[in-house]
Amino acid sequence: MSNVLDVESLSVEFCVNGNDFYAVRDVSFHIKAGETFGLVGESGCGKSVTSLALVRLLSKLAKVHGNVHYSGRNLLKLSDREMRQVRGNEVSMIFQEPMTSLNPVYKIGAQISESLRLHKKLSARDAFQQALEMLRKVGIARPNEIMDEYPHQLSGGMRQRVMIAIAMVCNPNLLIADEPTTALDVTIQAQILELMRTLSSDYGTSVLLITHDLGVVAEMCDRVAVMYAGEIVEQGSVDDIFFAPNHPYTKGLLNAIPKIDAVTKERLQPIEGNVPSLSRMPKGCRFAPRCANAMEQCKTESPELFDVGEEHTSRCWLSKPKEANA
Ligand code: SF4
Repeated sequence: MSNVLDVESLSVEFCVNGNDFYAVRDVSFHIKAGETFGLVGESGCGKSVTSLALVRLLSKLAKVHGNVHYSGRNLLKLSDREMRQVRGNEVSMIFQEPMTSLNPVYKIGAQISESLRLHKKLSARDAFQQALEMLRKVGIARPNEIMDEYPHQLSGGMRQRVMIAIAMVCNPNLLIADEPTTALDVTIQAQILELMRTLSSDYGTSVLLITHDLGVVAEMCDRVAVMYAGEIVEQGSVDDIFFAPNHPYTKGLLNAIPKIDAVTKERLQPIEGNVPSLSRMPKGCRFAPRCANAMEQCKTESPELFDVGEEHTSRCWLSKPKEANA
């Protein structure tokens, strides 16, 4: 299977009060055609900064290093004009809160049509018809009337459906969805995830799904990268991550979620401590202050990602192959 996106050694640096801090460090992953790839981690771990860096939506103050190969081009090297052609057309995005992305003073029909007029050069009439069809596909009842309404007249779930309509109307190769269901009620969450799954399968769209919710990952993803303090600490298939987790942080995340099929009332095991702030990143392994397995080496030397299986890697000294120790 060919890759739609290849991210190589992506780092994002911010300068605060004259000091440089890495919000994201040396992140590499690829997304295959048609697959859903999850980026999971706690708030502040760098997953949203990573996604914004890919599509060049970070402030100019951020220094972005590395390569982002998409369709034979390095997105980080494109001109602003070329990048605008890619964004919203070949690569589209959905964010957590649709009200921050929808324009409050434009009608829904105009907002969906705009993408088609801009990127596909359709006439106003054709764009309107396709926008209407897209609203039907995302399951909006009364689509003719909704085309003529404003975002504030819709519920949160409907607004997210409209965002999906805008994101999918140009038939993108890659959809980046950043916490698309976090702000929604549980029942609506399930409907939106099902809609994303159906549309990405119908359109053959690859998905980069950013979430803090391991339940969403289990439901939606083929492969997953777990992020902690700006780094990928483990990467593998969904089965690897859920049934054979290797990194102590991944194991901690899994132990911290309630299991509906638990036979006894086991206590949940939270991960002690907090994610370190950018300005106080520990030397060595960034997880060391919270890790029950930490050794002396962990406090001074940063582990690299070691292979622990086929397409399964873990950033932990305990995973270093024995022969490599010799
Ligand atoms: Fe824990 Fe050390 Fe592995 Fe880091 S490298 S996760 S501190 S055992």
